[in-house]
Parts: sequence; C-alpha cells; structure tokens
Amino acid sequence: MRAKIKQIKFADLHVHTSLSDSTFSPEEVIQHAAHYGLSAVAITDHDCVSGISPTIKFASHYDIEVIPGVELTAEIEDCEVHILGFYIDWQNKWLMGELEKICQIRVERIHKMVERLRQSGINITAQEVLELSGKGSVGRLHLARVLEKKGCVSSIEEAFKKLIGDGCPCYVKRLRPTPKEAIGMINKVGGIAVLAHPHTMYGDTLIPQLIQDGIKGIEVYYSDQSEFAIRRYEDLAHKHNLIITGGSDCHGLGKGEVSMGKVKIPYELVEKLKSSVA
Ligand code: AMP
Ligand code: FE
Ligand code: FE
Ligand code: ZN
Repeated sequence: MRAKIKQIKFADLHVHTSLSDSTFSPEEVIQHAAHYGLSAVAITDHDCVSGISPTIKFASHYDIEVIPGVELTAEIEDCEVHILGFYIDWQNKWLMGELEKICQIRVERIHKMVERLRQSGINITAQEVLELSGKGSVGRLHLARVLEKKGCVSSIEEAFKKLIGDGCPCYVKRLRPTPKEAIGMINKVGGIAVLAHPHTMYGDTLIPQLIQDGIKGIEVYYSDQSEFAIRRYEDLAHKHNLIITGGSDCHGLGKGEVSMGKVKIPYELVEKLKSSVA
C-alpha cells in the first residue's frame, strides 16, 4: 500500500501589485504565484486596496487564495513604521474614502519632490511620474524608476541613496498617520494589524509601544532576512504572544530582481492568522 503524502501548502503574505509600486499587474502576480507553487498570496499595496478585486478575479482561474490586505505607512518619533492589515473589508466605503485622501497627499508630495529635483537641475516632470504610476497609489519607487529611465541616476538604489531616500536633499516628508491611527483604521474594517519588516525601523525599542497600540502580529519572515534576525523576531513574537507572518514584499521588477518565491511560509500560519479574525 502506498503511503499518503501530505501536500504541504505555502503562502506569501506580502505582495504588491501595479496598483501601488510593483511592476506586476494583478494577473502577473497570480501567474508568478502559480509558478512559485504558492497556494495563497496576500495583496498588500501601499495605502491602496484597488488591486485586490482584479487579483481575486485572476486567481479564480488558478487554485490560489487571495487574502485581502493593505500596507499603511505610519510614523512615530521620526521613524517610518509600515503596518500590514490582513482580512480587511476592502470594499468598505469609509476605508476607500480614507485611502483616497492619503493617495491625494501622495500625489501632492510627488509634485513637491519633483520641484526639489528640478531646482537641483534634474529635468523631470510630475506628469511623467504620475503616468508611470497609473491608477492607485504613487510613491518614491515610481519617482526612482523615472529618474533611472531618464538616465539621471544609474540605478534605483542610487536614486534613493543620493536624492530621494530619507534625509536626502530631494526627500519630502508627507503627513502620515501614527501607528495607533493606522491600526485603528485596520481594526475598524475588521482587519488584523501586523508590524511589517521590523528590521527596517531604527531598532526594536518602539515595538512595546506598537504592541500597546494594538498590533496583533509581526512579520518575521522576509526576503533576505538573516537567520539571526528571524530568531530574534520569532523570540519576540513568542514573548509577546504575537501572530507570526511572512512575505517577500515582491514589487515585481520594481526593485531589480523578483523577490516572490524567496519567502514561502507554511499555510499553517495563514490558518492561525485567519482564526484570529474577530
Ligand atoms: P513611499 O511610500 O512613497 O515613501 O515609498 C516607499 C517605497 O520605496 C517602498 O516600496 C519602499 O520599499 C521603497 N524604498 C525605500 N527605500 C528604498 C531603496 N533604498 N531602494 C529601493 N526601494 C526603496
Ligand atoms: Fe513599495
Ligand atoms: Fe513596507
Ligand atoms: Zn511592502
């Protein structure tokens, strides 16, 4: 008698689409997810939910589950904090209105950053950035891609390092919610708030405050994350009873190489996340 082999399923809980700053359309996201053998993907565009419905539509042609999500940018004590919201009611009118306002602030900030670049003698227009970004949310990665395409910098990395990264001459801050406000938005539409890529903050000192503010989970597994960091955040999750998530943060070819497939978390973690939905 042949032994039954249990098929292990995998998921990626942090994926962007072209509705924010990935080069992959919703259809391409699903095609790549199928290629990498993923059973579930969470769509977590920056301050935007309009990529979710089209992704669900394409996923229906494959056996892939789409988890509705969002990645909100927040700020506290001069530190940018990204909060993932899973299982949100992405069709909620109030949420859509709030995100619309944030996207408008993003557009205004692009105009300001382009103005600074032009004052430094770099000849690009906001129109070029907004055209590249298309529908959804616009961000610095679009700006970096225009700078690279026009030969103003030799790489996306150089654009961030010399011109538009935090603290660089053409960087402009935009009004952002506090983590508590971002978590509140996610909770209001039934979602679970999870701290994204904690290693990108200036240390772990803010984490206790973020737990008090209401994060329920932490993104432990992430593209190119060191074993050391993984262990550190696993320990932190166990200590504070936080749900563990993981994802590639794939931006298509937006950051050079495709990171989808680099992080494949066991589906068991999706089940744990799902069971915590109120
Ligand atoms: P924004 O939300 O407009 O401030 O832009 C943030 C986006 O820029 C996110 O997708 C980040 O991952 C991306 N980003 C930030 N720093 C870098 C960098 N050094 N290289 C490539 N992408 C970056
Ligand atoms: Fe991004
Ligand atoms: Fe992020
Ligand atoms: Zn992301």
